[in-house]
Amino acid sequence: MSEPAPSLTPEFGLRDGGRLTLVRGEGARLWDDHGRVYIDLGASHGAGSLGACHPAVVKAIEEQARTLLFLGSGYASPIRTAFLEKLLSLLPRSFSRVFLSNSGTEAVEAAIKIARSATGRTKVVAALRGFHGRTLGALSATWRRELKEPFEPLVPGFVHVPFNDAAALDRAVDDTTALVLLEPVQGEGGVHVATPEFLRAARAVATRTGALLAFDEVQTGIARTGRLFAFEHWGIVPDLLLLAKSLAGGVPIGATVTTEEVATRFRGSHHSTFGGSPLACAAGLAALTATVDERLAERAARLGALGLERLRSLVPDHARELRGLGLMLGLELREKAAPYLAALESRGFLAIPAGATVIRLLPPLVIRDEEFAAGLSAIEEVVGRG
Ligand SMILES: *Cc1c(COP(=O)(O)O)cnc(C)c1O
Repeated sequence: MSEPAPSLTPEFGLRDGGRLTLVRGEGARLWDDHGRVYIDLGASHGAGSLGACHPAVVKAIEEQARTLLFLGSGYASPIRTAFLEKLLSLLPRSFSRVFLSNSGTEAVEAAIKIARSATGRTKVVAALRGFHGRTLGALSATWRRELKEPFEPLVPGFVHVPFNDAAALDRAVDDTTALVLLEPVQGEGGVHVATPEFLRAARAVATRTGALLAFDEVQTGIARTGRLFAFEHWGIVPDLLLLAKSLAGGVPIGATVTTEEVATRFRGSHHSTFGGSPLACAAGLAALTATVDERLAERAARLGALGLERLRSLVPDHARELRGLGLMLGLELREKAAPYLAALESRGFLAIPAGATVIRLLPPLVIRDEEFAAGLSAIEEVVGRG
């Protein structure tokens, strides 16, 4: 018996011979090591909103790498200033301070530390089915038991309330609460869209009790839901806005955006060596500029509406429920999603699950109309047969 060829996976470099090996990309298309092309309907869990190798991002990275690849965050940096000015120009005026890091989970960690320090309190209220990352603080806010159990004890002081249950949230938040942490659309938890009442209640109870309200827009941020930021759908502005994934067009970045008022109450220190590096900021500036100039939020709204309309016919005969906002769609099946995802892959379409039974679509926002339509047809075919 010959050993499978060793292929390094992110999970501890285990041997994993059977997995699809992807080597090249352009827009929403990815090629494997045999030259076969796939349409990407998952965009690396939303990090690839601009598709593979967006030319403006590639150009910015090349130029910045030649100019100044790395700089400690203790020095002023024109590219960081330009990126932050661009980001803040797209947000409500209440936001004026940004802590830059390298990932979504770090953006969440910073929010937890800022909230605890600024309020002098410890309790964090999050939601059932919520996902906020995998470092110990963020993992404490994450809901799924099996993600947490092997690593317990986690950080104390975290409680979870049912998503979209305004009364439960109201009861859980009190004058010991530092932070209310919510995704406006739950991604990993199965694509659940917040109701206006729930987010309104969150804003009201946070303000009333003196807790800070954070929206984790790591997945929903930057045009994914049909607005640049998902909170714009509801017109409810948080105290902390957490961004990562697609923010720098595929380069690692995390951002914890907050107000002057919160920043001035922060005590202690928080720091990241690579946070706000010139390379990430150059990529981020190019990515934000491309997202606005190419009107990707409108594109997400239009294609997402098309997806909802086309896939609706699968409910209730072949699927339990269809949910979504913009280009963030979840088709909940009555059985495991994995065999359907495998069938899609064999037809050349890469979709991702959200939990065991949901097929999740998070295509690059630059996906061509005909590529997306072909993806929808493949889903109709694969799920419609089941
Ligand atoms: C992916 C995700 C995170 C974690 O981001 P990483 O960059 O993987 O650490 C946090 N919150 C939400 C909502 C996410 O979707």
